[in-house]
Formats: sequence, C-alpha cells, structure tokens
Amino acid sequence: MAVNNVKGTRDIIGEEANAFNYIENLLKQICELFAYNEVRPPVLEHTELFVRGVGESSDVVRKEMYTFLDKAERSVTLRPEFTAGIMRLIVQNKLLNTNELPFKAYYVGPVFRYERPQLGRYRQFSQFGVEAVGNNSPEIDVETIALAYTILTSLNLENVSIRINTLGDDESRENYKKALKAYFAQYLDQMCQDCHSRYELNPLRILDCKVPEDQKIVEGAPKMKDFLSENAKNRFNKVLALLDEMSIPYVVDDTLVRGLDYYSETVYEFHYTSSNGTNYGAIGAGGHYDKLVAEIGGPNAAGVGFSFGVDRLYSVLRDDNLLRGRMDNPVEIYVMPMGEIAKPLAMQVATELRVSGYRTDMCFEDVKLGNMFKRAERKGASFAVIIGENEVNNQEVIIKNMATQEQINCPVERLTCKVSELMGDECCDGECQCHHKEN
Ligand code: AMP
Repeated sequence: MAVNNVKGTRDIIGEEANAFNYIENLLKQICELFAYNEVRPPVLEHTELFVRGVGESSDVVRKEMYTFLDKAERSVTLRPEFTAGIMRLIVQNKLLNTNELPFKAYYVGPVFRYERPQLGRYRQFSQFGVEAVGNNSPEIDVETIALAYTILTSLNLENVSIRINTLGDDESRENYKKALKAYFAQYLDQMCQDCHSRYELNPLRILDCKVPEDQKIVEGAPKMKDFLSENAKNRFNKVLALLDEMSIPYVVDDTLVRGLDYYSETVYEFHYTSSNGTNYGAIGAGGHYDKLVAEIGGPNAAGVGFSFGVDRLYSVLRDDNLLRGRMDNPVEIYVMPMGEIAKPLAMQVATELRVSGYRTDMCFEDVKLGNMFKRAERKGASFAVIIGENEVNNQEVIIKNMATQEQINCPVERLTCKVSELMGDECCDGECQCHHKEN
C-alpha cells in the first residue's frame, strides 16, 4: 500500500510552489530594505524553551506542540512559532552585546501545531516574520507595522484592516487580571473546562475562548483600556499618533489580546476580507514583549515582531486573483537533440545558455520532432534550439522562434549572443567576439 502524507500537512507543488516563492522573495526584499537580516534557527528546540517562552497558559503549549523524547531521552519540540527560538539564538550568540541596537532579523520556514485541520488551518504551515530586539521605543513598534503595511500594499492586498490594541505594562495587566478574575468567578461553573485552567494560569486567555456560550460571557467582561496606567496610555497614544503621521490606517480593537503569553503594550493583527466579502480572519499578527529575552536567560531587553502565515497570504492572493503571472514559471529555451549523436552538443549548449542566465530545459527522450515541439509549447518556451546530425557536423544549431515560427541557423560559438539579441536583452558589453550586431 502507498504511504500518504501525515494529516494536516500538504504538498506544495507547481503553480502553488511558484506562488510561495514569489511571496517569500517579495517579503525578503522588503525586509532587506528595512535593514532586517535573515536568521535561520533550527526547527528542533528543547521543549523548555517554548514552555518558558510561549507560556504555559497558551493553547499552543498546553495542547498543540509536537513534543517527543529523542534517543537520549531529552524532551524536544518541533517549533510551534519562531519568536522564542529567535530569542534563544540572540541570547546564546550574545547578539545584544553591542551598542548597535535593535537587533533586527527576519525569518521564514515551517512551524508545527497539532491543531484540528480545516480550511486554511494546517499542522505544518509556513511563517514569515520579523523581530526587532533591544529597543523599547514606540517608534520601533511602528516600524514593524510600517514594514508589514509595506508588505501588504506591495502584494496589492487592499482589503486589510490593521487592528491594534495595548495590553499595557505589568501594573496595568496585573490590575486587569484581578478585575477579570473577579468578573469570571461568578460565571466559572457555566464555562468550559479549558477556561477553568485559563482562570488559574492566566485569565487573559479566557478572552480568546472560542466556545460560543463562553464568548457571550466574555462580551460583558471588563475592558483593558479601563485599567491602563498613565505610562501605558501615553505609550499607546504615541504609537497611534505615529501611525496617523505615517498615514497608516488602523482600527483600535479593545478585544484584541493575542494568544501567546509573552506580549505586553502594543499588539496588532492584520485581518483580511476578500473582494467578494469572505472573511479570512487574521493573516498575520504581532506585538511588543518586555520579558521574553530575560525569560530565556538573557538581559532585560524589550522587543517587537510579527508573523504572517505564508499559506494564508497565498490563499487570499489566489482567491482575490492577485497572483496572475506569478504562478507560472515558463522555460525560455527548449533544446531538442535529434538522436543519440546530438545529445552531447545539446547538453553543452543547454549548460551555456543556463550559465548566461536563460532558463533552459532539454528533451531527454527519443521522441519525434513534432512531439518535442509540443513539449516546448507546453513548457511555454520562447525559443527551441534544434540539433541534428548536420548541425553537429557543422558545429551549429537551429534556433526557432516559437511564436513566429521563424528559424535561423547559428554557429554554436555565437549562440548565447544570438539568443540575447533575439530576447531583446543586452548582449556582451562590446568585448565579445561574436559580432552578431554586424550579421
Ligand atoms: P500566531 O503565531 O498564532 O500569531 O499566528 C500568526 C499567523 O500564522 C496567523 O495570523 C496565521 O496567518 C498563521 N497561522 C497560525 N496558525 C495556523 C495554522 N494552523 N495553519 C495555517 N496558518 C496558521
């Protein structure tokens, strides 16, 4: 019996893989413009990192981690998110021991959560995000939002709403948690079992409960904004004023608390509704954290970061028809050897074209010329390069324009120059011996 993929994982193939490449490359370019550098932490970390970093009260740690004992009986976990791993990377490599802060990094790669698979929700999915660590200013919070906003506008995603809230400082959150405990105490016997442990571990998590009956109770709960300290209020107002100055649109959403325990002060989410009205929920989210670096054993340093689900970005771009021309990856030149005798020259020619920057494929099967042309067409080739016995003997090739059907003979040594000319590209900077412009 054939072996299939693991539930909640999926194969990304063909057009979809091309689209993922387009999305990830664009995001990388924008991060580079904002002077973030790539980091590549391992997929596997000690379980303790996520328990300490992401927090014991989060659903991710309580229910969703892929945790197992390795052969030496150490508990290890496939990362369920990037931030804790990046904090470990920063602390272990002493990257904050510099006066050039914040340390700014971006990342992309798979993460693993044992969730119930459903539309747009997988057990292995890809995240792309950034972290800026070692600066506590409202400006750096806003820089990350500006970066995310640039990403969204560059992808032409117009129907995004940026929702923002503050979780305040320690003092604000402690007062708020007390108020939540007092409020939920009256309803606890009507609430789900998960909410009972949330009540003990971190009552803020109750606000994220998805059980409809519990949500009704949550609606009447006290609001964070009424428990903010003066400092927290001022900091949040600065963030909003900066966003206004930069003309970045947002909505303040005082129900937003985020599902991971490490956040404080600014938190934000990017919600998407497609042009036909489908609500995709959050395609990305992030916020500020004060304690995470210290929690992992590093110095007291604040940070801020966000993460986009690449699979979600792909779905919304596809459904809103924003991937036209981004999903195909045609070959430019298809090399067609006619028989055994032509194969060595065909391979030599194909390699030369590739080295000159042309995406080139070659026919490896002994099929008729007509069949090879069909293959060239299906691959979207602009030109076919045909090599038969005569061409081998004369050290030349036939170049055929697939659109106009015109064909010319060309000496092998002039091939790449001729192709550049036919493609409308700049040729060989004048130092080449081909003289094709004179031909
Ligand atoms: P989080 O780390 O939970 O804040 O998630 C950040 C982003 O990752 C979300 O906004 C989604 O776009 C994406 N995401 C989270 N969970 C999943 C999942 N199970 N499958 C696909 N994408 C996900």
